[in-house]
Amino acid sequence: MHVVRVRYAPSPTGTLHIGGARTALFNFLFARHTNGTFVLRVEDTDQARQVPGSEEAMIRGLKSLGILWDEGPDTPSQPYGPYRVTERMARHQELARQLLAEGKAYRCFCTPEELEAERNRRRAEGLPPRYSGRCRTLTPEASKARAEAGERWVLRLVVPEEGETIVEDIIRGTVRFENRILDDFVLMKPDFTPVYNFAVAIDDHDMAITHVIRGEEHLSNTPKQILVMKALGFDLPKFAHLPMILAPDRTKLSKRHGATSVEEYRDQGILPEALVNYLLLLGWSAPDGREIMTLDEAAQEFTLERVQHTAAIYDQKKLEWM
Ligand code: GLU
Repeated sequence: MHVVRVRYAPSPTGTLHIGGARTALFNFLFARHTNGTFVLRVEDTDQARQVPGSEEAMIRGLKSLGILWDEGPDTPSQPYGPYRVTERMARHQELARQLLAEGKAYRCFCTPEELEAERNRRRAEGLPPRYSGRCRTLTPEASKARAEAGERWVLRLVVPEEGETIVEDIIRGTVRFENRILDDFVLMKPDFTPVYNFAVAIDDHDMAITHVIRGEEHLSNTPKQILVMKALGFDLPKFAHLPMILAPDRTKLSKRHGATSVEEYRDQGILPEALVNYLLLLGWSAPDGREIMTLDEAAQEFTLERVQHTAAIYDQKKLEWM
């Protein structure tokens, strides 16, 4: 059995909210339970969506809850890291060039307008509105010449048209995705920077992550990451997608259901210990049904097998009673 390595990989687009804090907590507890390592990796790939000060706010939020990570690029001095995806860009670019050279990825010169027209045409014909893959058939020479002439391009992965990509998820079981609907998705943008699904697959491999534990909203990204890992010849990590957190009326959690960020709770005088305890029970339960636990006690008991499959219901009123 490998030594367990897990990560929490937030995008710095705001403060630490309930969903992110729960993901970080479950990763942290799983690492503690298995004597493994918990890594923090800030996913700052999408510069346009970044909010200044967000990384600091998230780190403050994690620290206030006692969710501390074990390593970073500046080890061994504390405070560590975190790792940042943009600092790994040369590696993403190197592997993009490798896939291109191997014919596993190709340059696509279609403009956004052309792609839109193509989707509309397919819709009108009753076909799924996807990319036809027409730049796949360009010869390497033609592709290179167009790039050298300064034409704008993105890098796309060659996705098999037949068959399916299977996600074996510790919480959700076997989830199947038809390759046909995945399209030849984009790996690198026109400025030759990676999209999330490409960078994350490489980073998880390079950081020797053994278990990818994250919110269910990422389940549909997982087959893409698996295809990237397979194209690069990487072994796959295990996956565990945590159930959604819904409001008491079973709608998507939002501001109108009360505080949603860790800092707001602190401002309302809710103790960090109470918040951690509450987050713990959003999708997990102790074998003996205990409801009040410290971080150390939770770490002793925490296994992914006890994460529930169905949505967790968040009710701020309960938290106020804790
Ligand atoms: N950066 C993603 C997010 O904040 C998480 C990605 C992942 O865990 O793979 O939702």
